[in-house]
Amino acid sequence: MKRILILGATGSIGTSACDVVRTHPSDFRIAGLAVRSNREKAEALGREFGAPVFCGENAAVRAVAETDADLVLVSTVGLSGLAPTLAAIERGVDVALATKEVMVAAGELVCARAEAKGVKILPVDSEHSAIFQCMQAGDAGWRGRRDVSKLILTASGGPFLDAPADLSSVTPEQALNHPRWKMGPKVTVDSSTMMNKGFEILEARWLFDVPVERIDVVVHPESVVHSLVEFADGATLAQLSPPDMRVPIQYAFSWPERLPAERAQLNLASLSSLTFRAPDETRFPALRLVKEAARAGGTKTAVLSAADEVAVARFLAGEIRYTDIVRLVAAAVDAAPDLPCDSLENILAADAAGRKLAKEWNS
Ligand code: MG
Repeated sequence: MKRILILGATGSIGTSACDVVRTHPSDFRIAGLAVRSNREKAEALGREFGAPVFCGENAAVRAVAETDADLVLVSTVGLSGLAPTLAAIERGVDVALATKEVMVAAGELVCARAEAKGVKILPVDSEHSAIFQCMQAGDAGWRGRRDVSKLILTASGGPFLDAPADLSSVTPEQALNHPRWKMGPKVTVDSSTMMNKGFEILEARWLFDVPVERIDVVVHPESVVHSLVEFADGATLAQLSPPDMRVPIQYAFSWPERLPAERAQLNLASLSSLTFRAPDETRFPALRLVKEAARAGGTKTAVLSAADEVAVARFLAGEIRYTDIVRLVAAAVDAAPDLPCDSLENILAADAAGRKLAKEWNS
């Protein structure tokens, strides 16, 4: 029986996680639930699962301190996931990580602390879960493997994959119209610019301890192959499943085992084709920008993440053009001071600097 603490219990990942626990009552128990504001819904879940409920500004950190759990699911919004992740590591509790900003902004710090404490950070993001599953081949572990030549992240390509070359007049309505996934506005816009895939490169870099030079992105509009690992002997493994977040969430909970669940199965015969193509880095410069920030290291990627959040908000508010999003983020990354990525204080300072530069930026 694994005791699980869910941070961000009423969000979309938290809701799917509760569903996974519901279908496996003899394998998992919810030890606690934390939410920022949705108290009523959280208390209903608390009654259902017999779990303490934490609500409010510092709920996630308090929940980690006061709950005995075997695994903490971090699925809060943005950088708010960092402090509770560090708190869980400090307590020696394994983390299932859904909040990618934690690795984007502070991967170096989080991985150093996790390694020092012998704590595992398990992926929940669908692409990273796919890579994690492929990494189970052989017994060489899943971080810093020498027999891996490449990680290959798949990307749906977003709504502008085949749009005309000039994207400067894209409206918020167009950017929010994702062809495949229904998600919140920030991540939908990030998917359309491919900034989201850039963030996932960073997430993979830290989760699997692989340099960004060995992480590729391939556009795969059907979104059936969730990602792949190319091994040194020329073998490539892929993970395929219907798009259902309960699959990667359950795997993070049950690893190293797999538990049965009655869910839609992939029907290969009904898929007419699976297609793949290289991303166009000229039309989608976010990928290159992210790799440059990763190479610069330190807190540059924390600046990147913060500046992007402001840039997307400014675009949605009609203040800047669509093509200004990546320009603005690049300018902020360039202008912000670079600090060592070795303390929560430095990450928060970089985050604040990124936000300030992004708010002041003018085309
Ligand atoms: Mg993803």
